[in-house]
Amino acid sequence: MYQGQSVWVRALDDAGVCELCFDRQGDAINKFDDRTVDELRQAVAVLAGHAGLRGVLISSAKEVFIVGADITEFGAKFSQPAELIAASVAQSNTVFVALEDLPVPTVVAINGFALGGGLELALAGSLRAMSRTAQVGVPEVKLGLFPGFGGTVRLSRLAGPAVACDWVTTGQPQSADAALAAGVVHAVVAPDALRGAALDLLHQAMNGAVDWAAQQQRKRDPVPLSAPEQAAVFDAALAQTAPLSARQQPAAQRAVQMMAEAAGLDRSAALALEARVFGEVASTQAARALVQAFLNEQAIKRLSRRHAQAGAPVRSAAVLGAGIMGGGIAYTSALRGVPVRMKDIAQPALDLGMGEAAKQLARRVKTGRLAQARANGVLAAIRPQTDHSGFDAVDCVIEAIVENLGIKQQVLADLENRVAPGTLIASNTSSLRIDDLAPALQRPENFVGMHFFNPVHMMPLVEVVRGSRSSDAAVSTAVGYAVAMGKTPIVVRDCPGFLVNRVLTAYMRGFLLLVADGADFVQVDRTMEAFGWPMGPAYLEDVVGMDTGSHVSDVISAGYPERMPHIEHDALRLMAREGRYGQKNGIGFYRYETDAQGKPRRSPAPDTPALLARLQPHGPRAFTDAEIVDRMMLPMVVEAVHALEEGVVGTAAELDTALQLGLGFPAYAGGPLQYADWLGLAEVVARCDRLAPTLGAALQPTARMRAMAARGERFHTA
Ligand code: NAD
Repeated sequence: MYQGQSVWVRALDDAGVCELCFDRQGDAINKFDDRTVDELRQAVAVLAGHAGLRGVLISSAKEVFIVGADITEFGAKFSQPAELIAASVAQSNTVFVALEDLPVPTVVAINGFALGGGLELALAGSLRAMSRTAQVGVPEVKLGLFPGFGGTVRLSRLAGPAVACDWVTTGQPQSADAALAAGVVHAVVAPDALRGAALDLLHQAMNGAVDWAAQQQRKRDPVPLSAPEQAAVFDAALAQTAPLSARQQPAAQRAVQMMAEAAGLDRSAALALEARVFGEVASTQAARALVQAFLNEQAIKRLSRRHAQAGAPVRSAAVLGAGIMGGGIAYTSALRGVPVRMKDIAQPALDLGMGEAAKQLARRVKTGRLAQARANGVLAAIRPQTDHSGFDAVDCVIEAIVENLGIKQQVLADLENRVAPGTLIASNTSSLRIDDLAPALQRPENFVGMHFFNPVHMMPLVEVVRGSRSSDAAVSTAVGYAVAMGKTPIVVRDCPGFLVNRVLTAYMRGFLLLVADGADFVQVDRTMEAFGWPMGPAYLEDVVGMDTGSHVSDVISAGYPERMPHIEHDALRLMAREGRYGQKNGIGFYRYETDAQGKPRRSPAPDTPALLARLQPHGPRAFTDAEIVDRMMLPMVVEAVHALEEGVVGTAAELDTALQLGLGFPAYAGGPLQYADWLGLAEVVARCDRLAPTLGAALQPTARMRAMAARGERFHTA
């Protein structure tokens, strides 16, 4: 009856039962792209025009029903003005309404996943049968959006506003049981019984045994709850979503506000409202950045897969050093199924490392994330030792000993004699160059950096550092191992500070210069936390420690003397000289006291302003929040562009992802390059030019930035 590239319609019998099937040609899955929506429109028109039609089965020919929208289409769509986005969504909605208004029952058979637009389509049917192993959900909020194909309207009416608010604002996938309990589906069956159950439901509806028309009518009427009942639900949901909005991600709150308003409206008014607010939310910076982050992540996964194929698998590994980092790396490796030898020169360090691993495992067992037997297996997969036994049989050794060039060189040279010729050797150094360590080795081609972040088991980023003599195979093997550990590896070229610490230092220097110019550090922290950073720069320095902070700053200053010259008297050095190392000794910019849970709690240290006044030749000075943001963020943007232009990192996608995962760059702003795209490069260049005369080369746009600005180009083109 109808054959498109994603949808077909066939008669199932002579009695007027038809099947509308999603069957995307040349793909393993179904997704809702523009073409599919258009084909669905045609398919529904064919059904509507079929004189003898009595019922429709809606199915998928794939392992999944529909996984959602085609996110690669979002970039172009959502760069339009809000009204145009709303108009286009409203237009698509007419297809769902036409399906819903067919004069016959429609039963949807949900297999695999029905997510986003997939569930929204299913909700337009009269009844739904679901495979026991399938999942449904509306994950749009994770992209800074909410369902825009009538999902909020239909879910509120079928499952009630409490379920609708929960599903829409958390974006969590839901099991078949949860969907049944919520009234979203009408039957849950074993996967191979799905089609039969859906057809059975359809025949019951056609025979009048199930009142399918009442099910459809519920979705055309306002939500049948009293005003106080509604207020209770929506107020609770608003309170729950407030923190997301505070982090400049408005989608969840706006969805709740919109659903509250739409609850009293009929279908057409409610759909119009949903489309209008969707347009507004889809054109926010948060949506743009979260969609871009998703596309970046996909691109990085593709790169990592290519590396993993090119490299050798790491079946067993070793770690040198059982300290904070070595212990964390060994634990993560074992947890992910790669057994690991952990060598230290000090038995107490090994005991501590094993103790920490046992603690992490116990936590997993307690929260039900790991069975006790498996936890025992993981612990047994870490072999603490003070000698090199078994090192000749491992595929990779990660060095995580003290940060000292001479000691590391000595240890690496010795290590190389104890491993097989093809073994990958990686250093977790954070501030030394791979090219400065490599001369200690006979086989520098087997040597790379693997820069993990602290705490290793929680931080997803690993910078895989390519030295000038590292082989492609070594880089690929390191990427594959990082992926096996559940991490997101980003390959960077060797340079002082690699990528993340280098770009972070540009930002931190913005802070040190603000303080020297008389800014109030508490205001700077408050402003940058409101901007979306997990912690302000003064607080971050306290957490890192003044000694480590000034060491990193020295390394970077030596590497980039024009843009980030050494500052003789800065706040870090002053604090360190005064014995105020930060959280580690209870006093830095702030004062720390241990709370009832044993966690350090910060409070303002009253004498800090007087101490910092020693660095402020012109005394305190008031800055606006906007000035603070520019003086912190623009040097970071400029340094990120330098790193990209030098080929330290291959793509804008990798750069922004590294800074999100490594530093917690605010998700709604996306990363330094996405942030520059948001401001517009012409605006970035203009603001830098205004600040550069006082702040120097750190704010000097590159020639390429100026050229891109003149041409109106962006870093992210997706
Ligand atoms: P740490 O002081 O906690 O641990 C170092 C361990 O190495 C100690 O247990 C020490 O006994 C052991 N050790 C020293 N010489 C050894 C040798 N010859 N053989 C075996 N073990 C030896 O230090 P850490 O914080 O874990 O840092 C280790 C490395 O990781 C450093 O290069 C550091 O720059 C880097 N790094 C640290 C962080 C961080 O936040 N701590 C982050 C990224 C990278």
